Amino acid sequence: MFVKRAAALVTKYFKDCNKLLTQPTYCSAHSIVKMDSKHVQNGNAVSLTSLPKLQLTSFMQNIDAVMFDCDGVLWLGMDPLENAQALVKKLRSMGKKVFFMTNNSTRTQEEFLEKFNKLGFEATVDEIVGTAFLAALYLKEQGFKGKAYVVGSEGITKELAKVGIDSLPIGPDTVDPSSLRWNPLDYNIDLDPIVGAVVVGFDHHISYTKILKAASYLNSNKCLFVATNTDEQFPARGLSTIVCPGTGSFVSAVKTAAGREPVVMGKPESFPFEYVQRKHNLQPNRVLMVGDRGNTDILFGRQCGLWTLLVMTGVTDIKTMRNWETSQDPVEKMCVPDYYSQDVNEFYQLLLN
Ligand SMILES: [Mg+2]
Repeated sequence: MFVKRAAALVTKYFKDCNKLLTQPTYCSAHSIVKMDSKHVQNGNAVSLTSLPKLQLTSFMQNIDAVMFDCDGVLWLGMDPLENAQALVKKLRSMGKKVFFMTNNSTRTQEEFLEKFNKLGFEATVDEIVGTAFLAALYLKEQGFKGKAYVVGSEGITKELAKVGIDSLPIGPDTVDPSSLRWNPLDYNIDLDPIVGAVVVGFDHHISYTKILKAASYLNSNKCLFVATNTDEQFPARGLSTIVCPGTGSFVSAVKTAAGREPVVMGKPESFPFEYVQRKHNLQPNRVLMVGDRGNTDILFGRQCGLWTLLVMTGVTDIKTMRNWETSQDPVEKMCVPDYYSQDVNEFYQLLLN
């Protein structure tokens, strides 16, 4: 699934680059610069610790903003990683703008801020970009007026409510197994004619009924289809035998049943960057994206023309990154970062010295 989706993204990337020749856009403009850069030609990530001090200083002088993925970069669950708060503080003291780009769809912006504060990170709502928020913003900007069917949690329904969009109730939606005869009528399908959008995010109560309803709403071409993100799995902390399905698995189920592709809000799609770029007028080649996952964070950064730093405290390990460096697959090559470091503490220590 990932390979197929990522292949489509890369195709789009190269198409965008061609489009630039006649129609410049901020994102593809930098992509062309990067295509000519050492990074893309050699395809090898550089260890941050191997950079001469002067080179790192000069690099940082040319960076206006640093974007962080959160889980696996700044914290693991509810545990902040070593010196993550100090790094954010240090970057601010250096005059850098700081943003937090998370694919998590389960919290509102304000709820994210509470978590930041609880874990000791200085932040403002404006610096946080969550996918529930982006989904609501997207529908608002589409001029959407109907009601939404949400496969997801309160993070989404609350963000939708903030922009004046009603949604059908969320939570468990199951049927009594004893009554099932594989007849659609068993599923208590009562489609609301006002529903004009389906939003799929992370849902602990994902069920056959929900997939059935989502696909049925999407049967109408007029119904918008929005996915918060397509992450395949969550890291199963300390339990290597366990696979924790991510939102991508639910999105795949709905899109397969509906026979339609969603508009995806989260990384590696460019919406999170476009939102911040629009508000803060950032130049992509003066932004550093720090992430733990090659196929979301780094692919996102590279597609938007940002500098990229991969830390090894989350999903992608150094072995996988090395395999991508030598891969013949253009998609995997796009997941290779400019730089890598063990963790954010290593980055912090280098900035101190
Ligand atoms: Mg992460």
